[in-house]
Amino acid sequence: MRCILVILDGLGDRAHDALGGRTPLQAAYTPNLDWLATAGMNGLYHACMQGVALSSEVAHALMFGYDRGELPGRGYLEAVGYGLEPGADDVFLLCHLCSVEERDGRLILVRERPGVDVSEMEALTEALSTCEGGDTGTRFVSTRKGDGLLVLSGAVSPAITDSDPIYEGRPLISVEPTDASPEARSTAEELNRYLRRAYRTLSGLPLNTGRREKGLPPLNALATQRAGKKKQLTPFYEKWGLRALSTASLPVYHGLCRELGMEIRVANDSDGPGGDLRERLFLAREAADFDFIHVHTKVADEAGHTKDPYTKKAVIEAIDRAMEFAVTEIMPDPGVLFVITADHSTASTGTMIHTGETVPLAMVGKYPRRDGVTAFNEVDCAGGALGPVRGSELMYLVLNFLDRGKLGGLMDTPHDQPYYPGHYRPLTADGD
Ligand SMILES: [Zn+2]
Repeated sequence: MRCILVILDGLGDRAHDALGGRTPLQAAYTPNLDWLATAGMNGLYHACMQGVALSSEVAHALMFGYDRGELPGRGYLEAVGYGLEPGADDVFLLCHLCSVEERDGRLILVRERPGVDVSEMEALTEALSTCEGGDTGTRFVSTRKGDGLLVLSGAVSPAITDSDPIYEGRPLISVEPTDASPEARSTAEELNRYLRRAYRTLSGLPLNTGRREKGLPPLNALATQRAGKKKQLTPFYEKWGLRALSTASLPVYHGLCRELGMEIRVANDSDGPGGDLRERLFLAREAADFDFIHVHTKVADEAGHTKDPYTKKAVIEAIDRAMEFAVTEIMPDPGVLFVITADHSTASTGTMIHTGETVPLAMVGKYPRRDGVTAFNEVDCAGGALGPVRGSELMYLVLNFLDRGKLGGLMDTPHDQPYYPGHYRPLTADGD
């Protein structure tokens, strides 16, 4: 048997008066998702604990059964995802161009995402290259419009705070060390110097004079987040005994899945959210050589970030149309355990980036019980036979419903792994 795990990123939401007190998922027409809920065993999932708003990379790591402390910061994961082949001692930070105003000596974030042309990006990258230097050898690498990675090398540490205040109207944050090591202190000091140099250099660019004349906010500062450095992670195959494949498309998921030793097959990304998911489901159906296939779509999360519940409802309906492929082309295979859930909630109301509510979970296949739930959403799934599911319980349930879980107490390998049989050395007939 094999498991197809479908993650509808950011699916969970809050009740909206505009939708009659329902979430976008409750309000959407979703006959295929409802079919899956009806056929399976349902519950509410949270990758950590209720109320905690998780980033996608942390939620995925927890879902795959890893501890939060084991995970390298997202800067490192994206560096891997973008194919930068990071050195073991380098530190990577997510960064993006933003617009700031100097007030009382502070740099106030006035536009978090000012909008950058491809042609502008080249001039900005070149200008930032003149800010390089110092003991950390700080270097800006452009990744996509307005975004990049900062690469720090030398005696550097990822134990530093962000400079990005996220919300407009707040000052950029002075980077501080988060441990007592001299490397963390010097990395923070050196980065603050670099960010000041970047602000002065970018502010004086002719490109920004031109933007100001057109009434556009200048691109005059870098905001940094989530420093990361390589950490040795136990391969997914060793941890769960499952040969894994990911069809996720964004660099952070590529980076994480690659670091976990999963194979990656890149699917198309177009403007059609449903078509992209359908292609991923097709790849999953064909991937008979794998025991665990991670199917991921970001579209519900992106819709949540628009803070428009109607947009999210429409995207969920497109997702549901794609799920018809799962219902008609995948579910007839008795060798498939089909699991559908989300990594976290991304509410399309309020000011939080992601939110801490649970998300619906359905497990469908030969072994899961069948409960009375007939609708896949954040409220109906609460009445299902799985009940509340948290963190790595999801992977233990996957092993259980693949019929591969180990009886606690058996020791076929030196490390107590949760699957059976483990990768043990056979006793030889030859010998004393
Ligand atoms: Zn996410």
